[in-house]
Amino acid sequence: MSHPTVRKPRIAQIASENQEFIKSFPDNLYDRSTGVYYAPVPSKELFHGIEQAHADGLLGQGIKIAILDTGLMLSHPWIQRSVIESTDFTGEGLEDRNGHGTAVAFVTLVTAPASEILNVKCFKQSGRANEFDVKRGLKWCMDRGIAVINISGGVYDTSCRGDCNLCQLAIQVGQSGPMILVAAGNDPSEPLCPGKAGFKSDHVWVVGAYDATKGKIAEYSAKGEIYGDVGNWHRIPIS
Ligand SMILES: [Zn+2]
Repeated sequence: MSHPTVRKPRIAQIASENQEFIKSFPDNLYDRSTGVYYAPVPSKELFHGIEQAHADGLLGQGIKIAILDTGLMLSHPWIQRSVIESTDFTGEGLEDRNGHGTAVAFVTLVTAPASEILNVKCFKQSGRANEFDVKRGLKWCMDRGIAVINISGGVYDTSCRGDCNLCQLAIQVGQSGPMILVAAGNDPSEPLCPGKAGFKSDHVWVVGAYDATKGKIAEYSAKGEIYGDVGNWHRIPIS
């Protein structure tokens, strides 16, 4: 899959202490031959029905979307235009030193370009998070009029059936208003928490990976007992 790219600031414009880290980015984020940093902006065509939705005027206007991730690349013009609030629970600062959070924001802004983004950094530069920081991020999202909370990550808890502390908190936050979208994870046998809260709550939705070429859920994607029709979005039902 090839992504059109948006040019990011040249590496010289990025703080020198971060340059080594940026060089470790995946190649689709950092072009070693030119020293130019790119962020992967997905093509609109990847999102089924999105052209029609946009033609119908559905651009995400008035919708607040919280991205609980590795922070955001705040210098990017799309991010500057769309972020209305940022907070950091990792102690690393608001900026994205990983690329994942920014990539998630670009998916969001390709599909919902008029949405307002809240940058809730609770995953570290390493891409990992501790449960405490994710909980703080979720709590921070309460009472802010947020429509959607996206968590493309989580923790593995093999004993959880949607009732661990993190899942319970997600259910509670979801009941306060937001829809919470959680990555199912890439272990076929074990969904992530708080995604397992989807076993218990209509407010938490689990998103599996979809293999468009095969027309089914990707082999590596976590699954529940699942799934009726195949699309990009899947609820893991109570099992
Ligand atoms: Zn859980």
